[in-house]
Amino acid sequence: MCEEKSKTAQLREKLMNEPKGAKALSREEIEQADSFCEGYKKFLNASPVEREAVRYTVEAAEAAGFTAFDPEASYKAGDKVYLINRDKAVALAVIGKDGVKNGARLAIAHIDSPRIDLKPNPLYESNNLALFKTHYYGGLKKYQWTAIPLTLHGVIVLLDGTRVEVKWGDEENESCFCVTDLLPHLAQEQVTKPMAKAFTGEDLNVLVGSRPYPDADDEKELVKLNVMSILNEKYGVTEGDFLSAELCLVPSFKAKDIGFDSSMIGAYGHDDKVCAYPALMAAIDAKDVEQTCVTYLTDKEEIGSDGNTGMQSDFLRYFIYDLAKQDGVEGYRALSKSTCLSADVNAAFDPTYASAFEAKNSCYINGGVVISKYTGHGGKYDTSDASAEYMGMVRSLLEKNDIQWQIGELGRVDLGGGGTIAKYVANMNVDVIDLGVPVLSMHAPFEIVSKTDVYMAYRAFYEFFVQ
Ligand code: MN
Ligand code: MN
Repeated sequence: MCEEKSKTAQLREKLMNEPKGAKALSREEIEQADSFCEGYKKFLNASPVEREAVRYTVEAAEAAGFTAFDPEASYKAGDKVYLINRDKAVALAVIGKDGVKNGARLAIAHIDSPRIDLKPNPLYESNNLALFKTHYYGGLKKYQWTAIPLTLHGVIVLLDGTRVEVKWGDEENESCFCVTDLLPHLAQEQVTKPMAKAFTGEDLNVLVGSRPYPDADDEKELVKLNVMSILNEKYGVTEGDFLSAELCLVPSFKAKDIGFDSSMIGAYGHDDKVCAYPALMAAIDAKDVEQTCVTYLTDKEEIGSDGNTGMQSDFLRYFIYDLAKQDGVEGYRALSKSTCLSADVNAAFDPTYASAFEAKNSCYINGGVVISKYTGHGGKYDTSDASAEYMGMVRSLLEKNDIQWQIGELGRVDLGGGGTIAKYVANMNVDVIDLGVPVLSMHAPFEIVSKTDVYMAYRAFYEFFVQ
């Protein structure tokens, strides 16, 4: 017989909101999370840049019965379609019994991550070293990208229109690239500078070669010439072809479990593949849905969602319009009844940097999926602050399905801030809230998430779709 709780303890239980934390999970749930994350790690390793994430997504979707969307075809409940936007973003839809007459259910994540892009004229030789000039992409602390192995991914378009895929540095025995840093012995001036000045954007030069072209009969830029001749042999490109290319440097290392308990995953690009993958899997697993469910994996979030593959483009709007046409309703009416989970990460409370956070309103590793009612900066600038009504709907969905969740504000008030695609979705007259996974070391080359949080994100998107 267990001891009866005191009256005060009973009242406390009834009235107070105590976070349950990681202890609330069963052994079975933890096993499910671990197994789900094995798939996630494969996705991560295959998709450091958005074009690769699109390819992986389409392959997984086709294997699950999705077909390329044809606006002229007519679709029925249960049909599954995908639509690719310029190889850099992709929408998946599972047609519901009601179609989009009462709106669609949207889960939108981004598949671009902070990285180092090559400048249009990247290659140069200096003091017998060949280097690439770069322009960083997204918000990054530049010093974190020095002295780590980097790999080159992207495409080069030749004058005749041929598109050449470039991938160099991933394989165990393949060479890779690196940004050099100054030795501590000579860094007395560097280390006393403010961090933003100690290592600047123009210092992000990538070492790509050092050996002169052999048996040359003159001495002009032989290291650069040697690099070009290797690239020409492998890809058929000349230096001018860099002008029509998208080449990115991303960390070479693969996703690794973290901790003696392997409870976390360290990897490049969790932001925001850690939401993209669960949203993809939810679309693949969702069956017999009432309202059409759309997972949209977008590009360019890290640089403000501008551009025709970013969330500010009309691509998704037009896709919904096409779906609405099928159902004989106006596109704007379908949109105005739609609901969305903006699937993006939030900053997990880090005890080492506790002063950057406000503990009562931060999210925590292993606390479950995180809801951010608003993001932005200052006095709630540049954000879509979700309504109490919509927040209430999502909260009740999570509680009803026993999904571990928590609330999260991005750090303490006025310390900085950030945004997500939520505000652009809201501008389409859609109810939207941010829901995603807490991340440690966000935007670093090696970010950390909890496996059970990743699994809870999947469960949240899935239940949102099938409710
Ligand atoms: Mn993000
Ligand atoms: Mn980000």
